[in-house]
Amino acid sequence: MPELPEVETVRLGLNAVTCHLPIVGTEVLLARTITYPKVLAEFQAGLQGVQIAEWRRRGKYLLATLNKDGLQPAGWLGVHLRMSGQLLWVEASEPLHKHTRVRLSFEKNQELRFLDQRTFGQLWWVPPSEDPNYIMSGFGALGPEPLSPELSDEYLEKVLRGRDRPIKNALLDQTLIAGLGNIYVDESLFLSGIHPTQPCKRLTVSQIKKLHGAIEEVIQTALTQGGTTFSSFRQVSGTNGNYGGVAWVYRRGGQPCHQCNTPIEKMRLGGRSCHFCPQCQPVLKDKIETVP
Ligand SMILES: [Zn+2]
Repeated sequence: MPELPEVETVRLGLNAVTCHLPIVGTEVLLARTITYPKVLAEFQAGLQGVQIAEWRRRGKYLLATLNKDGLQPAGWLGVHLRMSGQLLWVEASEPLHKHTRVRLSFEKNQELRFLDQRTFGQLWWVPPSEDPNYIMSGFGALGPEPLSPELSDEYLEKVLRGRDRPIKNALLDQTLIAGLGNIYVDESLFLSGIHPTQPCKRLTVSQIKKLHGAIEEVIQTALTQGGTTFSSFRQVSGTNGNYGGVAWVYRRGGQPCHQCNTPIEKMRLGGRSCHFCPQCQPVLKDKIETVP
């Protein structure tokens, strides 16, 4: 599933190629991809003749600001890639891939195609009279961005304090921190030496500080690498990211830990796969650090 670094990589690609060109047609090949408006004709009419001013990102959501003739506000186009969504910028003559769900035709025979094998991906057209925070489910409830000042040590302590749930599950919660997913949570927990099943309430203040630093480091590194290569992720140009080559634990089950040579273990937690080093990420029994 594309996470913050992959979505940010897509955003940069979209900003480089899709802006300030009028959309001349919209074809929806799978109706349920369009979450809003419910009437497909309204989605198509909303996008007809408009231009994308710029793409922004919040968490794993993409949001294009639209206008007409470069002036008149024309609402927003929202995109969530979910499990396997891809946005590809192609020549209109490019043969259709079987997982193509939506085609946006631009002037100069260019197309932005939304491909989605698993079909959980979502597109919204939000009219200028509405607010994306209310129309796009989950968008208005997102927690702070991992690299923003709002995500401080104090904030993390506050939202994790007293919680029974495993730290891995808390970090996947988009209302606590926006944009993290399975890959970068596992990587951040490795770098901070925290076992994924550790209950939040058993984390020490120093562990939380370390975790915060690890999240920043992992996200920065992944952004530099253009995200992680996996089966469903492609940049708008169709190429892949490189983070997989520098990962600590992601998809390294059974391989030696880069720090201690212990084989990386894989387990299931809350329905998700989890990779960790049992040596570098010990389970702590108690929050109280005893003095010898
Ligand atoms: Zn290790």
